[in-house]
Amino acid sequence: MPHTPDTPTVRPRRRLRAVALLASAASVCLVAASAPPAPLGIGDRLFPHLGNPGYDVTAYDLSFTYAGDNSKPLRAVTTIDARITADLERINLDFTHGTVDSVEVDGEPAGFTTAGEDLVVTPRDALDEGERTRITVRHTSDPVHSGGHEGGWVRTADGLAMANQADAAHLVFPCNDHPSDKAWFTIRVTAPDGHTAVANGLPAGRERTGGATTWTYRVQHPMATELAQVSIGRSTVLHRAGPHGLPVRDVVPTKHRAALEPWLKETPGQIAWLEEKVGRYPFETYGLLLADADTGFELETQTLSLFERELFTEPAYPRWYVESIMVHELSHQWFGDSVSPRTWSDLWLNEGHATWYEALYAEETAGKPLVERMKAAYGASDRWRAAGGPPAAPKAPDPGRKTSIFRPNVYDGAALVLYALRQEIGRPAFGRLERAWVTRHRDGTATTADFVRLASDLAGRDLNGFFHGWLYDEKTPPMPGHPDWKPTTTTATPAPTH
Ligand SMILES: [Zn+2]
Repeated sequence: MPHTPDTPTVRPRRRLRAVALLASAASVCLVAASAPPAPLGIGDRLFPHLGNPGYDVTAYDLSFTYAGDNSKPLRAVTTIDARITADLERINLDFTHGTVDSVEVDGEPAGFTTAGEDLVVTPRDALDEGERTRITVRHTSDPVHSGGHEGGWVRTADGLAMANQADAAHLVFPCNDHPSDKAWFTIRVTAPDGHTAVANGLPAGRERTGGATTWTYRVQHPMATELAQVSIGRSTVLHRAGPHGLPVRDVVPTKHRAALEPWLKETPGQIAWLEEKVGRYPFETYGLLLADADTGFELETQTLSLFERELFTEPAYPRWYVESIMVHELSHQWFGDSVSPRTWSDLWLNEGHATWYEALYAEETAGKPLVERMKAAYGASDRWRAAGGPPAAPKAPDPGRKTSIFRPNVYDGAALVLYALRQEIGRPAFGRLERAWVTRHRDGTATTADFVRLASDLAGRDLNGFFHGWLYDEKTPPMPGHPDWKPTTTTATPAPTH
């Protein structure tokens, strides 16, 4: 995610309602026979109520109608195709911050109510393990936040963008809001004339009717809910070719188009650089979405990374720094998007790798030595572990600030783990591991244990003991090859947020 640039001097980059129950006589009986609706989860240690048991979403079809005012709720229809994995009398979806008008399950009206941040659906007939089902929810999606929530829709100067990581997709649409349940997405946006809508994946149609246009986009690879992106604004879409003819498209506020071009033209070269390191770019397209918004972070939404426009137009940021942040989000397309974390405790695999390639790019293209950055990280690592937990056992988010899991322990603190690993097994084995990781788990999800196992296989020896200290211990182990590196007492490390 979120990476708020740990910038130089500029400025601190900070960062239900009751619904009608359409119960038929049959569903009343079902409800009466079982426990009251309750918010469920899949047991994520950091987000206990994210995701839901008993089904696997195969596809989402999201349809949003934007009236031209980003302070008004959008009308929306969310259709979910799922495979039932346990007998269910009710299906819990994650959804809050919108009004539900109706729910259908396989074309039949279904009962629904809310419990915590879950929308609890009671179909007329119970669902059996192995069945496939289609749930259609007609609802609103409210871009205005009040109270403790952060994320979901981001209101920009000219419309909307989306920032769902880690737990905010269900503020936008009903879903199984956990990266362990990836699915296919079709996204349709209807917006009035003068607006342009872009979403993840490739265009799959555009239809103009009476003063509005409906754009359709479809992903070509499974995607986690946290990585969904929808941009609606007075935007221009710029097209260029990446390596092997990869379509690269950027979405920019039309009035800033000329100022942004010198940055945007760097993307194809950055993709080629990363392909040299880890292999073929994993998706059907890439590009930057430059939002006129004060998000305080950048975000690796799949195929279309979200950036604050100001990162590129604020002259105080050095060029090498901005480019390294571009590479950070780009490398997430492999590490975090194509290979998603099975649980949020595996976040270090996303951010550690993205920080690693960010730093490596700065070393190779701007002469910023990686070893110096890693030595500084080593100095701070014990303090980061004390504040945020060890990299693979991060502390729970601060109350009311769920994005606070994005602490330095999973950024430079986790890149430091990768550096230690490279020191331990050598550059050739490390390079093979990185390629094998994104190849083996492409379009899937993976755990920390999977990474440890693959590293051990490729190094030809058991690395469990090595990783245990680096990933789970309170204190940072000695750095292989640098016995002189010691914890330091300097403070003031700005929180990253990419
Ligand atoms: Zn990141």
